[in-house]
Amino acid sequence: MQRLPPFSYEPARSVAEAVALLSKYGADAMPVSGGTDLYANMKQRLFAPKVLVGLRPIRALRFIAYDDARGLEIGALATVRDLAESEIVAARYPALARAASSISTPQLRAMGTVGGNLCLDTRCNYYNQNLDWRAALGFCLKNGADICRVAAGSRTCLAVNASDLAPVLQAFGAAVHLAGSGGERALDIAQFFTDDGRNALARDAREILVKIALPPAQPGTRSAYRKLRQRASFDFPLLGVASVVWLDGAGVCRDARVVLNALGPRPVEALEAAQCLIGTRLEPEALAIAADAAYKVGKPMENAGTTLAYRKRMLRVFTRRTLEDIAGVGAPA
Ligand SMILES: Cc1cc2nc3c(=O)[nH]c(=O)nc-3n(C[C@H](O)[C@H](O)[C@H](O)COP(=O)(O)OP(=O)(O)OC[C@H]3O[C@@H](n4cnc5c(N)ncnc54)[C@H](O)[C@@H]3O)c2cc1C
Ligand code: SF4
Repeated sequence: MQRLPPFSYEPARSVAEAVALLSKYGADAMPVSGGTDLYANMKQRLFAPKVLVGLRPIRALRFIAYDDARGLEIGALATVRDLAESEIVAARYPALARAASSISTPQLRAMGTVGGNLCLDTRCNYYNQNLDWRAALGFCLKNGADICRVAAGSRTCLAVNASDLAPVLQAFGAAVHLAGSGGERALDIAQFFTDDGRNALARDAREILVKIALPPAQPGTRSAYRKLRQRASFDFPLLGVASVVWLDGAGVCRDARVVLNALGPRPVEALEAAQCLIGTRLEPEALAIAADAAYKVGKPMENAGTTLAYRKRMLRVFTRRTLEDIAGVGAPA
């Protein structure tokens, strides 16, 4: 049995209190929301914080609100289940509801939060192992050694962003709001993630994520999310494909975004794939060309389940299926 390392728990009752506690304890502290990811990682000794700052008591951060002018706002403490079951989200941002309902299990969705999901640690076959396993191998860049086991020549960690919500939120053009001792700041979600899995978030350790804001849903917006995983019952994504398409009144695509995830430390926008859709009526040929473009841009590494070759092949298949869902011709997932 794996046991948690010793730590003390300091509940925060407000954002200001959480920020003050994180500043007080510095590198010794981490925030915890649902704990569904953090506690498992602590058991594997990936982290051993002396203090956990509990965010769950901050009830004001558990909300989902929609306004035609402001758009959708999701408090960081809204649970993944809140998101999956929200009628507003299902009606206006269906890909988000779909991604939320594909996350882990009902129990974990009830505990896990949207903020925790976006702040997930990156994952890799050589990292998400217990201490003895990693020590026997001699560790890797993400554990303080000087080599990446996936790509020996790499100077950065290539571990993957395994959040199902991140690519969908990026496709919708979301902003994340962070609170720190200097006040609140908003960042485009694409800038929230970095290229190095060792330090994969543009978040200061003393800041907490408080809110995610999405632009208002315009008429003619369609969205979809597909996820490749080993077990259909529950599993992290081996590949995630999110797309949002904006159609004009005549059904012609006037803008599009395609975002791929679980390939590296940050979601990757397939710009050329999106360009291939603009000006079309999402005819099958257009979807196939866009899927080819996504295939070219996605570069999986040998660091997640199955093989690199299979994940690479599935890039084209899953992009096409995602776009077929948007075009209304997709087979059930
Ligand atoms: C078996 C299993 C299967 C899973 N499957 C999936 C899956 O399919 N898809 C998926 O996306 N996820 C999956 N997860 C991961 C996890 O359950 C979810 O991502 C969940 O939403 C994490 O939220 P949490 O509140 O529990 O995060 P926590 O565990 O509390 O925290 C996760 C990380 O985020 C930080 N953090 C938490 N809240 C904040 C905040 N507000 N501000 C700043 N930092 C914060 C913590 O310090 C920690 O580093 C799985 C987990 C398990 C154990
Ligand atoms: S990608 Fe490389 S450095 Fe990063 S966790 Fe995996 S083996 Fe370690």
